[in-house]
Amino acid sequence: MSLFSRTVVTTLPLVPKAVVGKVASRYVAGETLDDAVATIRRLNGEGAMATIDVLGEEVTDRGKAEAAVAEYLRAIDAIVEQRLDANVSIKLTLLGLKIDPDFCRANVERIAGAARERDLFVRIDMEDRTTTDATLAIYHQLQPRLGNLGVVLQAYMRRTLADLAALPAEGANVRLCKGIYIEPRQAAWKGYETVRLNFVAALRKMIRQGTYAAVATHDEYLVCAALDLVDQHRLGGDRYEMQMLLGVDDEMRRILIAQGHRMRVYVPYGRDWYPYSIRRLRENPEIARHVMRATLGRAFGNGASRNGR
Ligand SMILES: Cc1cc2nc3c(=O)[nH]c(=O)nc-3n(C[C@H](O)[C@H](O)[C@H](O)COP(=O)(O)OP(=O)(O)OC[C@H]3O[C@@H](n4cnc5c(N)ncnc54)[C@H](O)[C@@H]3O)c2cc1C
Repeated sequence: MSLFSRTVVTTLPLVPKAVVGKVASRYVAGETLDDAVATIRRLNGEGAMATIDVLGEEVTDRGKAEAAVAEYLRAIDAIVEQRLDANVSIKLTLLGLKIDPDFCRANVERIAGAARERDLFVRIDMEDRTTTDATLAIYHQLQPRLGNLGVVLQAYMRRTLADLAALPAEGANVRLCKGIYIEPRQAAWKGYETVRLNFVAALRKMIRQGTYAAVATHDEYLVCAALDLVDQHRLGGDRYEMQMLLGVDDEMRRILIAQGHRMRVYVPYGRDWYPYSIRRLRENPEIARHVMRATLGRAFGNGASRNGR
């Protein structure tokens, strides 16, 4: 990333929300469930599966967490009624983890219970390090009983290999990603190559211990390393899938699907799109160009964004 882009990243919180919304609209299906359904239909038509994320996090109000549960139940109904090839991903701080872990666990159980009745899988996203223990605890408490839960581990975390070792011997399903939150060096590996190294080490360990691997990356080096491991271990489609975010590297997505790999796209929707969008923009190597173009467009009167953001 250029020095100019890095500067833009640091000053992103100062960029007007409407500009952020315009530049980040590619990463979000829209504000409504109908928007997500339309996006998933298109992805399914291209041979990709999807996972639905209702946007929102860091909720401190029980009512908001309960509204999120209701929205997830609607999303689960929509998947079944509209025959979509999709499951759901949940963030525990949206479901009340910071309010009360027991309340959050009950909310997860409501969503996962409804999904289980319809034979659907639920992925628990991983947030920052202050939530890792509580997130894994809820996964370990509920998964033996429900059986349709999976979790996420982040290759930048120093603890990840140990967390993998603590997974149940059978039926564990892990999404492995690099990790997006800004963590201190005590908790996280910092070098770009070091994180790649730990990603490959974790993936190797997952394959060795029989954990289903959801390989979530757009890093071509890691995609190549993952496919090499898939090939070496002769993994069938029941042992792994590739995952990518909506709006990132559609070309690689199409190449991997054409090569016969199962691909799942993360499809976020909802009105609370700002924090997610900021995280995505921070990772976009061309952020400076996009922000400049959107800002100038706005200045010259072309600023109306999709969804009126
Ligand atoms: C399906 C999925 C689910 C995820 N779930 C979680 C989670 O639960 N918890 C968590 O902490 N993180 C999660 N992440 C985010 C992940 O941790 C990384 O932050 C993100 O995927 C970028 O890392 P990368 O492996 O793609 O490598 P990078 O080195 O960041 O990116 C590789 C290349 O991909 C392209 N690219 C990456 N991001 C963008 C972008 N936003 N815009 C444009 N181009 C881009 C660029 O060309 C870049 O050079 C998830 C990622 C995916 C794909």
